[in-house]
Amino acid sequence: MPTLEASLPAPRLRIKVMEYEEKGIPLVVRGFHKLPGWEDALFTPEWLLEHSTGLNETISVRNVYDKRDSEMPLPEFIERCKNITDIVPGGTQKERYYGKDGICPEQWEAWLSSSGVVPKQILPFSGDDAFRFIPKQCRAETLMTYFGVGGTGTPCHKDLCASVGQNLMVHTENEGSAVWYMTLREDATSVSQYFRSLGQEVDLETHVASELELKVAPFKVYMHRQERGDLICVPQKSCHQVINEGGISIKLSWSRMILSSLVMAYESELPIYHRVCRPEIYSVKHLIHGAVMSGTKSLSEALSESDGDVTSRVCAMRDRLKPLVNAYTEIIVEGWDPQRKGEPQTWDPDGQTRISCDFCGAEIFQSYFECRECDQEKKESVSICSTCYVEGRSCVCDFMEPVTVQPFSLLLSVRNKAVDVLNRCLTEEEQLIPDYTHA
Ligand SMILES: [Zn+2]
Ligand SMILES: [Zn+2]
Repeated sequence: MPTLEASLPAPRLRIKVMEYEEKGIPLVVRGFHKLPGWEDALFTPEWLLEHSTGLNETISVRNVYDKRDSEMPLPEFIERCKNITDIVPGGTQKERYYGKDGICPEQWEAWLSSSGVVPKQILPFSGDDAFRFIPKQCRAETLMTYFGVGGTGTPCHKDLCASVGQNLMVHTENEGSAVWYMTLREDATSVSQYFRSLGQEVDLETHVASELELKVAPFKVYMHRQERGDLICVPQKSCHQVINEGGISIKLSWSRMILSSLVMAYESELPIYHRVCRPEIYSVKHLIHGAVMSGTKSLSEALSESDGDVTSRVCAMRDRLKPLVNAYTEIIVEGWDPQRKGEPQTWDPDGQTRISCDFCGAEIFQSYFECRECDQEKKESVSICSTCYVEGRSCVCDFMEPVTVQPFSLLLSVRNKAVDVLNRCLTEEEQLIPDYTHA
């Protein structure tokens, strides 16, 4: 696996990391724990216990034997991890727990953004990460912790919505480490096909590929043993599998939805999720909406600064905005209801909550179908995305009303404004159709 040292001069490290990210090649940067600013004591199980909200604090765990998820009191979980003797599980044992997808303590998040240890460009909500463009309450959880011991791990999977993954091992005990197997971004389709030939679905994250299966696979598999201070950079759509070994290891991981992730997710990942019913979580369409608005503003400012000249800076911004606007146009055409039934007259962007399809798990952006009747016990309405609805996926009673989240004219104006600014820096042949209207 390509490896860099964290002690490289910052600008050089940044350029290298970005280069691998763009090419979609796995990368490891070693030795962050040796940099000034690293805080050993912050990442220990003892720190977690001391700063927990009390004895009632629980951690979500998965029993790797029966794949069941549950909540366990934090002190009990840590006690179990410390006392694990047989490093390789086997025999008659029926329980071994992995603290998976844990909530990141605030202090860890603060350390990440203020310590200057990890390059700024790859931090959550910085640089190109589209999560910055949407209100905080609409953001999915993108920072997670993983608390493991030998014998636990994560089956082969792709990170959500073509996001870029970062995974930093912050603490180990008794030679804890994690063995990573990873593939290139460009091999995503071959990996899916290979998994299907094994009777598995890589997007369902259910299959731990054996060493033999990985060895004879028709694509390149990168391997790395992650130790304390190692940051693994996971390319978009890279399939990866992680096996923890030895004693305790704690990892801090976060994902970034960079602009190319948005288009990739919309075009290639969401259709897969819809088919296999994998929850989307990341609200890709909201992110595209936010990125289009932010990109329009920046491009229009750059154009006024250059007095309308199409400088290289303007070109770079234009080329980033254009594919987003194309995807956005598709999204709003898809969400257009010619009868405009159930469309609200007013809209409060801050009052929005996330709605997802109760059938396929897609995040709902504009139009969907709702039933307030059939779930009478829980008094909750059932929401079904339009794509599911036209395919005949419905609620039990099948009496659903169309609903629209925001006034359609609002989406149209975001789209038309973006096209207007873009067209000012495109040649005549490249111009996008201006002024979409609704009948
Ligand atoms: Zn759906
Ligand atoms: Zn119903």
